[in-house]
Amino acid sequence: MERQKVDISKFKKVELIKKLFREDVPEGVIVRPNPKDYNHYHSYGGLSPFFEGLTKGKLLGTECQNCRNTGLWLPPRVDCPDCWEKTEWRDVDTKDAKVYTYSVTNYPGAGFKATVPCPLISLEIPGVCTKFMSYLSEFGEGEPYIGMPVKPKFRIRKPTYTILDISWVPTS
Ligand SMILES: [Zn+2]
Repeated sequence: MERQKVDISKFKKVELIKKLFREDVPEGVIVRPNPKDYNHYHSYGGLSPFFEGLTKGKLLGTECQNCRNTGLWLPPRVDCPDCWEKTEWRDVDTKDAKVYTYSVTNYPGAGFKATVPCPLISLEIPGVCTKFMSYLSEFGEGEPYIGMPVKPKFRIRKPTYTILDISWVPTS
């Protein structure tokens, strides 16, 4: 059977094709769009209360009753990483939250969901045994800096049910 010849110049998206392949497509080579449109459904499992909380302006961590005094896990752990017991949900008090360290993204890779420049911050929150990672959605000249007091800001309207539903802003 003779190979069917396709004149790709007839494609409406020929410029896009050139861009994607970064060179002219040789004559006789077939290029066809293959559209895909599907939803991937997945469960948030035991972490559902955390993401539900963000949509209501609440930051929840977990605590192990067996290993008390270690502090809250944030992001939460459904099971204690130390003793494997089920943990319990607790409100995180963010009153004295501050920037522990940071880096600023100016040139993001593909799929980056925030605007740039975007300060990615690691937070120190009293009573929390982890350094919660997030981003600063409002900042001024010379910000962020290490030790900067911050407070959470929640995406309550049109939540994404992702970790991007929480960001941080300066307290003052
Ligand atoms: Zn434990």
